[in-house]
Amino acid sequence: MLNQLTISELTAKLATREVSSRAATQACLDQIQRVDEQLHAFISHDAAAALAQADAADQAIASGATHTQQPLLGVPVALKDVIAVKGQPLTCGSKILGQFISPYDATVTERLKAAGAILLGRANLDEFAMGSSTENSAFGTSRNPWDPSRIPGGSSGGSAVAVVADECFAALGSDTGGSIRQPASHCGCVGLKPTYGRVSRYGLVAFASSLDQIGCFAKNTRDTATMLGVISGHDPRDSTSVPQPVPDYAAGLTGDIKGLKIGLVKEYMIGGLAVEVKHAIEAAMQQLAKLGAEIVEVSLPHTDYAVATYYILATAEASANLARFDGIRYGARVDGADSIQLYSKTRGAGFGSEVKRRIILGTYVLSSGYYDAYYLRAQKVRTLIRNDFLKAFEKVDAIAAPTSPTAAFKIGEKSDDPLQMYLSDIYTISANLAGIPGLSVPCGFTGNSQPSTLNPQPRLPIGLQLLGQPFGEETILRIAHAFEQSTDWHKAKP
Ligand code: GLN
Repeated sequence: MLNQLTISELTAKLATREVSSRAATQACLDQIQRVDEQLHAFISHDAAAALAQADAADQAIASGATHTQQPLLGVPVALKDVIAVKGQPLTCGSKILGQFISPYDATVTERLKAAGAILLGRANLDEFAMGSSTENSAFGTSRNPWDPSRIPGGSSGGSAVAVVADECFAALGSDTGGSIRQPASHCGCVGLKPTYGRVSRYGLVAFASSLDQIGCFAKNTRDTATMLGVISGHDPRDSTSVPQPVPDYAAGLTGDIKGLKIGLVKEYMIGGLAVEVKHAIEAAMQQLAKLGAEIVEVSLPHTDYAVATYYILATAEASANLARFDGIRYGARVDGADSIQLYSKTRGAGFGSEVKRRIILGTYVLSSGYYDAYYLRAQKVRTLIRNDFLKAFEKVDAIAAPTSPTAAFKIGEKSDDPLQMYLSDIYTISANLAGIPGLSVPCGFTGNSQPSTLNPQPRLPIGLQLLGQPFGEETILRIAHAFEQSTDWHKAKP
């Protein structure tokens, strides 16, 4: 089926006009029809608009447009519903923006359009990207394609599900503390969070501005490289985007990683890491060694403080960023007798409980008397965490780690215990604190033996995380690609 192709396979067929973008787009729409009632990857999609874009792409190809100029010409993709597309809903998974239509395009949206992509629909997420399971969406939970009783990960769960269930060819997400890498790991696709500043955040609804970064999901590393090349680059409308040239990421996929040094973090092989995940990571390291990489032990001594540091800084920034949703400037208004009542009724009705928890926590750590004890101290620890990485990168070209300590958990398993949910972010949040790039690539499954009723062992994907030096996306993509070339994990389908 057409929707099962990768981007590079599809574009090869589009270029020779063996298939049309309309047919590929229709195949995705049919798949959405078939599976999305159960999996709920999309909050909304507009079939007619997608087909109209596909027809325009087919016409462009007929008049000579090429994929060298427009690498995604005719390729249907999904966008996390926190990235603005002019004229489309922008709900952020929240009731407060349930009726909001974006009046403008994000920079990444403009870039996707310029590259010829078909913008298929709005992918589900945890409300305002706060969460690790997609259970915090006001529009219902997305489900893991490998086992619909389990979470797909989050917060960009819908994006990961859409790619893995072949409802689209690639997707954009945002990653503030792991929200691209963790769902990619739980669903079994590639997910990449670029270096802070690599991709413009203009048009991304802010959660924690110093940590947020837009990135992509795809079925393999090559497609990920294509997507990254399209969305990367300096943007004068985002002062934190960096004027650094964008390399040809696909050209860097040489298959050769001989002599590269890959660090294995001493502090990461800890209690709480599931045995099956540990074994899959160890096997992946052996594979990388076989391919000629040198595995070196490195230390990130401040690892223990990462979760606490992240949840202070992320909530502090969220409390400030979400102040604009007050029923006056933004958000569905609930009227009150005076302005205070209006604010509190609007925000009381509009936000879900996790968002409220974070606003309260963030307001507390920024409040007078506690600012020095929490916020300021967390900023200092953030610097120590970044310095740990910079020091490790004096010895190694990349760092390997699990993406998540366990495979996908059951829906409802952690929703009453926010602390357990937060702790599951242990391996992903440091990269955001340090601003470095990270990706997750499929590296194995739980329950490899046949599941039996006596000993049910669900077959769930496991992800290997590769962390790179600032602007070292090429290196981690090259390692992931070489790994893919010598394994079949990324080809498995639910
Ligand atoms: N799970 C983390 C959180 O809840 C990360 C979320 C994200 O990256 N957007 O904050």
